[in-house]
Amino acid sequence: MDHESLRAQFPALQQQLGDYPLCYLDTAATSQKPLQVLEAMESFYRTHNANVHRAAHALSSKATSAYEDVRDALVNFLGAARREEIIFTHGTTEAINLVAHGLRGQFNAGDLILVDSAAHHANLVPWQQLAKATGTRVLPIGLDAELRLDRTAFRALLAQKPKLVALSQVSNALGTVNDIQALCAEARAHGAMTLVDGAQAVAHMPVNMAELGCDFYAFSGHKMYGPTGVGVLWGRYDLLAGLEPLLTGGEMIKTVSFEQTEFGELPNRLEAGTPPIAEVIGLGAAIEFLQTQDREALMQHEAGLLNYLQRELAAIPGIHLYAAHPDNIGAVAFNFGDEHHQDIGILLDQQGVAVRCGHHCAMPLMGLLGVRGCCRASLGIYSNKADVDQFIQAMKACADMLQ
Ligand code: PMP
Repeated sequence: MDHESLRAQFPALQQQLGDYPLCYLDTAATSQKPLQVLEAMESFYRTHNANVHRAAHALSSKATSAYEDVRDALVNFLGAARREEIIFTHGTTEAINLVAHGLRGQFNAGDLILVDSAAHHANLVPWQQLAKATGTRVLPIGLDAELRLDRTAFRALLAQKPKLVALSQVSNALGTVNDIQALCAEARAHGAMTLVDGAQAVAHMPVNMAELGCDFYAFSGHKMYGPTGVGVLWGRYDLLAGLEPLLTGGEMIKTVSFEQTEFGELPNRLEAGTPPIAEVIGLGAAIEFLQTQDREALMQHEAGLLNYLQRELAAIPGIHLYAAHPDNIGAVAFNFGDEHHQDIGILLDQQGVAVRCGHHCAMPLMGLLGVRGCCRASLGIYSNKADVDQFIQAMKACADMLQ
């Protein structure tokens, strides 16, 4: 694999911040974008910008084809059964809200939803809202001593017959990985629906809906080298068809009169209003970009780099790593002594290093770690050893300054 030429395709990475080259270790928050994505979006706006689905004119039918082609690309990318199972949203957050809102009519007082303790708020708050509206209970699935999902606790909770289990595939805060296939099979055996937040997974590994065995899967374009403002909800056709739409209005209807409205079919039924057309096209370019890479080699590259990062960081006296397992994906979470994580972030920034510091939209998880927040360094396919070395050197300089 020619990693340098792959990295060269990301223009934002080729910059200096003062005396330092940019060391971008915040890919879990949002990834940088390759030229292919930038060019696809610009070309759309320059050449065939038009609204989709609505007009007979040539530009609109080109825009519609380009938009719908991305749905087909996603069928292939996700191993979906049919194109109607792909719903474009504005991101993971909207995708999960769409399900949690859409299922309200199917939940009653006393029903139970289980949520992964490491879940991003986007995969917790919508379930709390559903609970508030219906009297459903939301319970956390605990973590074991290694800060992985506690399988024994999970089994005990499944015995209470939850109606839905919401899991993250990869924790955005820690980089820990859930065995989605096994967890979904167990949940299904107990009659529960499953929703998987794949926001931190899709950019790092191939995913296949038939293999994972979940019922809903959500992710964002901007974390997988695509643009912001677009995300995807995949769901089993029958379950999607049973969702009450979150948004209503244009595009999603069959007939409308002042007395009543009949909603249209999937996928339009769940895509009200003008969709993020250029963003969907950008996402299509990101998928094409990923599919033309040697993903197996990239996974090995990322795994090797993450392990190197974990080792080098652990060797700095005063550093505390959280759940830094060798099989984690994409991210390492840490604190330094009793220093505030934001202070570390500022000192690293002064040396050209971009990391994330805070609660990572996982406040319940921070509570379990016994901290208010931490720093997180995260990797993408373009990250290289020089990034890790620059970060480690900067972290050592912070340590010297603070001790
Ligand atoms: N889930 C996870 C695991 C995430 O990392 C994020 C983004 N930080 C989200 C959900 C929310 O994604 P978005 O803000 O793109 O909707």
